[in-house]
Amino acid sequence: MSDRIYNFSAGPAVLPEEVIRSSQEALWNLAGSGIGVMEHSHRGKEFSAVADRAEALCRELADIPSDYDVLFLQGGASTQFFMVPMSFLTADATADYLMTGAWSQKAVSEAKRFGRVHVAATSEDKNFSYIPTTDEIRWSERPVYAHFTSNNTIFGTEWTTEPSPPSGVPLVCDASSDIFSRPIDVRKYGLIYAGAQKNLGPSGVTLVIVRKDLVERAASNLPTMLQYRTHAKEKSMYNTPPTFGMFVMAEVFDWIKASGGLAAMGERNRAKAAVLYDYLERSSFFRTTARPDSRSLMNVCFRAPTEALEEKFLAEAKKRKLSGLKGHRSVGGMRASIYNAFPKAGCEALVALMADFEKANG
Ligand code: PMP
Repeated sequence: MSDRIYNFSAGPAVLPEEVIRSSQEALWNLAGSGIGVMEHSHRGKEFSAVADRAEALCRELADIPSDYDVLFLQGGASTQFFMVPMSFLTADATADYLMTGAWSQKAVSEAKRFGRVHVAATSEDKNFSYIPTTDEIRWSERPVYAHFTSNNTIFGTEWTTEPSPPSGVPLVCDASSDIFSRPIDVRKYGLIYAGAQKNLGPSGVTLVIVRKDLVERAASNLPTMLQYRTHAKEKSMYNTPPTFGMFVMAEVFDWIKASGGLAAMGERNRAKAAVLYDYLERSSFFRTTARPDSRSLMNVCFRAPTEALEEKFLAEAKKRKLSGLKGHRSVGGMRASIYNAFPKAGCEALVALMADFEKANG
């Protein structure tokens, strides 16, 4: 009998049980070496094997072509907010941004430090409750890249397919909250980045998948640590990388592979989200905040009729050992984050609570 409870946290978030168990073992003794994974030199053969495995599994899962680098960096997605424009955007150039939530707003603010930003589309007019359609996107004349946030963690919206910038314009994606939750065609992208702490592992490691010609093209007059080429050339070993995070990430990749890969993840995630959205559709008490065509499969945001009832609901959830359901402090309401490792039974437990609560308070 597990003493763990359903964790709907938006991140850091629930990890697969198998991964936690294997990480516990490796903390004590990595692969029979007599030394724990956190205590190994990053340059020794034991950790090199871990790093190689993390990269190989990542490439295999997402079918990443050989003309892309896979990097394990630090500083979170927030560092990528400035590392991208610092590398590719100059004062006389323009980068296009699709502004669909608080995280893309932050990416925009950072980009403005380096050059011109054209907001090609935004859903700010309706409190970021939807994803703009192709017709609503107005690209600029010659952007150096086009940036979007594939899943908006706070507002619970997600792109169903990636936007298509004009031909030759590299597509850059902040995929922090939906990376590897479904199949991804890496060839459509110039650069993908994601903090690990939702779908990939613990916080402290950031995955970057970047086309090699962009790495070569990036500005070279930057601090060494802030150049993609440093990390590409040294295979993320220029300095001490986040070794434990990389180990856990490899375990998570292995778990995804054993679960059937990204296609199976996509199906699982659709089925999980459907449990919640189907109930919310039928409910005359709770309502979702995202437009139906824009709903996220990762973060399900919903409201009750009043804030007082929301507080009561969250207290009730706590009693039933359903944790992390409070919406982001900037928007309020409720948010159920149901990343890859979150079990369907947890979604069913939440629906049971919502149904009981609706009956008692509706
Ligand atoms: N982008 C998105 C979509 C996020 O959800 C988050 C964190 N919740 C961030 C960026 C910021 O990531 P980090 O904390 O790794 O800097």
